[in-house]
Amino acid sequence: MVDDGPLEWLALGRGTLDRVALNRRDDAWLDAAWADPGTRVVVVQDGKSLVTYEPSPALVFVPPAQAPDGDRWLLGEDESGTVYFGTSGPLPAIEGTEPAGLRRVGALLGDRDSGLITHVVALEHWHDTHRHCPRCGAGTRVASAGHMRVCPEDGSQHFPRVDPAVIMLVTDDADRILLARGPRWPENRRSILAGFVEPGESLEQAVAREVKEEVGLPVRDVRYLGSQPWPLPQSLMLGFTARTDGDVPLRPDPEEILDAAWYTRDELRAAMDAGDLVAPGPLSIAAQIIMRWYGGDLPNMPPF
Ligand SMILES: [Zn+2]
Repeated sequence: MVDDGPLEWLALGRGTLDRVALNRRDDAWLDAAWADPGTRVVVVQDGKSLVTYEPSPALVFVPPAQAPDGDRWLLGEDESGTVYFGTSGPLPAIEGTEPAGLRRVGALLGDRDSGLITHVVALEHWHDTHRHCPRCGAGTRVASAGHMRVCPEDGSQHFPRVDPAVIMLVTDDADRILLARGPRWPENRRSILAGFVEPGESLEQAVAREVKEEVGLPVRDVRYLGSQPWPLPQSLMLGFTARTDGDVPLRPDPEEILDAAWYTRDELRAAMDAGDLVAPGPLSIAAQIIMRWYGGDLPNMPPF
C-alpha cells in the first residue's frame, strides 16, 4: 500500500529565509539594507547565477556596491539579520566561480542557497516576460521590491505568475505504479503523469481529468503529498497519489503519451538495471514521489 506520509526532501522547496514581505514597501528600510556592505546580492542572468564548488556548492554573492545596475528584488533576511537581494544583469567575473542554473545546482546547494536561486530565477523570468500591461499594453514599472509590476496608465497591479501543475502517482489493486513516456523526452525516460491545472478546476479534479485524458483511467482517493516550486519557467508542482480499480485497459493519448505501462517494484528495478528505463532526476518531485513508493533510492538514478 502507498504510504500516506509527506514527501521528505524536495530539492527546490528548501528555502530558509524569512521573505520579510512587509518590508517590500518600506523604502527607508530597503535603502538602509542596500547601503549596508554586509548585504548580499544574487546576480542572475538567463537563469544562471554564480556558484563555487569549493569547499562545497554555494552561491557567490556580491555586495550592493558591486552589483550591476538594475531593479533590486528583495529576497529575504536570514536569522543573523543579513539581507539578500536579487538583480538581473551581467554576472560579475570572480575567480573560482562559474555560472550555473537550477538543473545543475538546485539539488547540490544547501537549503538557503537552493531557496535563493529558485526565487531569483523565478523572478527574472517573470520580469523578462511581463514588461507590458496585459490590459492596455503600456510598459509597467517594478514595485514592491520586485514582487509586483504596476501599470502607469491604468494603475493595475500585476503579481508574479505561478502556474499550478499536478503530478500524480497512480497505483492499481496490486500496488503497481503507472509510468509513461512523453514525446520529446530523453531516450527511455519514463515518469508519472502530470499536467497543468485548468481555470475553474480544483486540484483533485485536475488529477482525475489528466489521468483520464492521458491514459483513459478513472481514479479515486486523490491524496495530496507535497509541492515544489519549478520555475522552469514558472510552475508549481503539486504532488498527489491516486488509485484505480480493476483491470481497465490503458488508452494512451498519442498526442501526449508515447507509451504507458504498470510496474511492480521488482519490474521497475529490473528495467532500470537493464537500462530500459531512466527515471526522472532527483531534482524533480516526480523522482521523490516514485522513491517514496519504492521505499528508497532507485537503482541507476541519473545524476542531477
Ligand atoms: Zn495598463
